[in-house]
Amino acid sequence: MPVFSRFRTGDVNPESGLFLCTGCGEIIPLSKGERFPPCADCGSTTWMMVALAGEAGRKYQTGTRSPVSGLFICTNCWGQIIPIARDEVFPPCASCKEGTDWQLIVSA
Ligand SMILES: [Zn+2]
Ligand SMILES: [Zn+2]
Repeated sequence: MPVFSRFRTGDVNPESGLFLCTGCGEIIPLSKGERFPPCADCGSTTWMMVALAGEAGRKYQTGTRSPVSGLFICTNCWGQIIPIARDEVFPPCASCKEGTDWQLIVSA
């Protein structure tokens, strides 16, 4: 099951993982076999898989060095996804122009 697959409310989840509401950025864990709910925050019915179960949603601040390579999403605007190599320093977000927490969505 590729990361970034999209699902709709009512679909049966084929793979345990973390899912991002494409409406507001809320992230929920959902187990295999469960049905996708509507978003409790904004009512959106579209979810995007952002991590498989077991991969942490660890957060790292702008200015700190990354201990892992991977793709990270800005937790401020939820609109910016950047690749970071191990030992690279997390930049400010190019979208919201601020220091932010970058959340690991998939390690490389
Ligand atoms: Zn939402
Ligand atoms: Zn941002």
